[in-house]
Amino acid sequence: MSSTELVSTEPATGEVVWRGSPGDAAAEVAIARAAWADWAARPLAVRTETLRRYANVVRARLDDFADLIARETGKPLWEARTEVEAVINKVDISITAYAERTAQRRLEGAMGARQALRHKPHGVLAVLGPFNFPAHLPNGHIVPALLAGNAVVFKPSEKTPAVGQFLVERFHEAGVPERVIRFLAGGPEEGKALAGDPGLDGLLFTGSARGGLALHRQFADMPNKILALELGGNNPLVVWDTPEPAAAAVIAVQSAYMTAGQRCTAARRLIVRDGAHEALVDEIGRLIDRIIVDGPHADPQPFMGPVIDTMSADHVQESFLNLIMKGGRPIKQLGRPDPDKPFLTPALIDVTGVASLPDEEIFGPVLQIVRVPDFDAAIAEANNTRFGLSASLVGGSPELYDRFWANIRAGIVNWNRPTNGAPSNAPFGGIGLSGNHRPSAYYAADYCAYPVVSSEAQQARAAIGIGLRDA
Ligand code: NAD
Repeated sequence: MSSTELVSTEPATGEVVWRGSPGDAAAEVAIARAAWADWAARPLAVRTETLRRYANVVRARLDDFADLIARETGKPLWEARTEVEAVINKVDISITAYAERTAQRRLEGAMGARQALRHKPHGVLAVLGPFNFPAHLPNGHIVPALLAGNAVVFKPSEKTPAVGQFLVERFHEAGVPERVIRFLAGGPEEGKALAGDPGLDGLLFTGSARGGLALHRQFADMPNKILALELGGNNPLVVWDTPEPAAAAVIAVQSAYMTAGQRCTAARRLIVRDGAHEALVDEIGRLIDRIIVDGPHADPQPFMGPVIDTMSADHVQESFLNLIMKGGRPIKQLGRPDPDKPFLTPALIDVTGVASLPDEEIFGPVLQIVRVPDFDAAIAEANNTRFGLSASLVGGSPELYDRFWANIRAGIVNWNRPTNGAPSNAPFGGIGLSGNHRPSAYYAADYCAYPVVSSEAQQARAAIGIGLRDA
């Protein structure tokens, strides 16, 4: 356990939002360990009702919660409100998903035997959350985990402890026992300690590929523990043969710059037909010039706020400069109006022909254009990544979309829609470095419980019909 104080500040103003000490992972796991069996033994109806109450508790605090998310992340208030709504809606979605994917079922057995399929919780699950959706994404693990009968130790990002603590307090307020959902403050060190705790039965992680790889290594000799990894992307948006460059530009801007580019599903690469791209690029440029970048409570409301902190802003700037040094041609520069604050303006850069283009997730408002000669080259370029989270095609015909869908490697594949904004009543996850084939959202139920199959009879009746000598 580290003893340094943890301080969370508002990206837009630098004001302190939260201050506290990192928690003790072992102590939190021990508390949850002692409590989970009792929670699991409660009827499903009781857990369901408690979580429905939680949705109501959050709804009653929507304004406070949205305000806190906006202040601690810097995202616009309107967007923070949609995050709280997603938190509320997650409860009904998880109840339906639990029933559909992990409900009790009777199976046909041989010779009239009764067979049953039921699911059991794992026990104590750790949830590690990212900063960009500090309520919605951990909530997407916690609600299904609690519903299935697990206890949870939740460590939010060290950049968003205030939102994490607020979330946990709402579960307690709704009647989830304090010992069943635990708040652990801290950063990667506390995350590692939590992941390595012998009292843990599994870990549900949403964050960077780097963090996910480290955890995968840490879990290498623990195949008995569930590990669900929801990681980043280097997502392509292919715009092809569209008669509507203005609409395509809007989709590109929404895909690349929403949440200041800090979405796992954000488009990072815009792939276009060489020679037929000028109108689209001009439209995107015109839209960029109109985008309001401002603090979360500004009036008029901004399209996007700052990135999470000055270190992240520095890092995005370095990545952008690196693209230029490699031969990229900026169309819209990445502006940093105040060097002491993490506000960045949306950037657009043509990286066609850049040798050894880094296959990295630049977690900020940077969109890279790659021009290609034909659609096969577009698909090859789109797939030219270690990641595989989301991908969109804008334009083309149904036949072209069929080709795109069949050949693209990603867990979310859209047509004439942005790369982000996936539906929460569907599974959510990617391939490649974007995860470990344990998709979240609707399929979170799958990793929160394990199946148990039983053959059952009231009495032991048995006979061996073959292979015995006469008595
Ligand atoms: P991050 O990996 O830095 O941190 C995520 C969490 O893990 C934090 O709580 C952090 O303290 C902890 N952590 C980091 N390294 C760790 C380690 N080695 N061991 C244990 N814990 C560790 O991620 P972030 O910067 O907070 O979030 C942004 C990233 O998350 C982006 O890469 C984004 O694409 C990704 N993301 C993915 C999804 C998805 O559903 N696929 C959704 C949102 C964000």
